[in-house]
Amino acid sequence: MTIPKLSDIIGIINKIAPQTLAESWDAVGLQVGDPAAPVSRIMTALDPGEPAIDAAIASRCQLLVTHHPFIFKPLPRLSAADPVTARIFRAIRNNLAVVSLHTNYDSAEGGLNDLLAERIGVFSCKPLTETVREELVKLAVFVPKGFEEQVMAALFRFSGVMGNYRDCSFRVDGTGTFLPLEGAKPFQGAKGRAESVQESRIELLLRAADLEKATEALKAAHPYEEPAYDLYPLLNRGKGFGLGRIGVLENPVTLAAYAADVRERLGCRSVRYVGNPLQTVRKVALCSGSGASFLHEAKRRGADLLVTGDVKYHEARTAEELGLALMDAGHFGTEIIAAQGLATRITSDCRHRRYEVEVLCCRDELDPFQVVP
Ligand SMILES: [Zn+2]
Repeated sequence: MTIPKLSDIIGIINKIAPQTLAESWDAVGLQVGDPAAPVSRIMTALDPGEPAIDAAIASRCQLLVTHHPFIFKPLPRLSAADPVTARIFRAIRNNLAVVSLHTNYDSAEGGLNDLLAERIGVFSCKPLTETVREELVKLAVFVPKGFEEQVMAALFRFSGVMGNYRDCSFRVDGTGTFLPLEGAKPFQGAKGRAESVQESRIELLLRAADLEKATEALKAAHPYEEPAYDLYPLLNRGKGFGLGRIGVLENPVTLAAYAADVRERLGCRSVRYVGNPLQTVRKVALCSGSGASFLHEAKRRGADLLVTGDVKYHEARTAEELGLALMDAGHFGTEIIAAQGLATRITSDCRHRRYEVEVLCCRDELDPFQVVP
């Protein structure tokens, strides 16, 4: 077991929610802190507000991981009279780093919207809006007989995934030729003598994002001094990522019954909804936080209902006009689950890498809205 550095934990966080999934206007990643500093205690929270900063310092944490960014807008000055800057000063004085993962965590597979869908009983989910689609590359590599398995094992760490199948590849036999020149250290044959070798041509799909690491692994595993391989750009696209989710409930229910169920499942103080309480809902769109801007998209995709937070009056009117049910479970109500979700995921990823780290979930955050019972 080793004590990781902050940069190691950032590596884990970037795996959970790749920064490439963040919206262009967002501010994610390291907000405050020294990447070289050791981290043995982490706290997770929804907001980098006073309660989470206090709790993290009181628990002697060196890192606070939040969903909402600590520094969202550029700071024109660093004055302790400003509440955000005052919290930044406090974090620095107490050796507390802050890392935020926001829209990248909303879109990530297993991220906040998937947690929300699972929590409110929505299955078979796809992104409601697609913002990023993986680019794919075809790799064809020529490997001498008997060395296929070691080369494929190195490449399967990065590639060969197609839907619910892994280790996918295609292989044909053929003859490779070469003539080693001055300075060559051939794996087989000798300088100045033409060689022909029985080889396999192995083809696999790679994500363009993994190309560099995969070709490094290929070169390390391949027995030749100069492995021969081809990379083909593809028009096929890989997995899609985006904000919100759309899926189905296991059993159709009335809107009123589902609203009560959502309140119960999220443990929130109130749920408001727009639509006929007796109408049946089965296909459900959802977006954690503020997602009423996806009303039209939810309708277009055939949803009966959109579940989100921060719904305004005119958005409610638009939902009525569209004939789409709309449910407001609050920004806090739909997102506080991020804190526990992150704690669970960071804990398991740290264990997997044998990092000696304790991860706590902040329990002191409250919905700023009070509700008259
Ligand atoms: Zn939010």
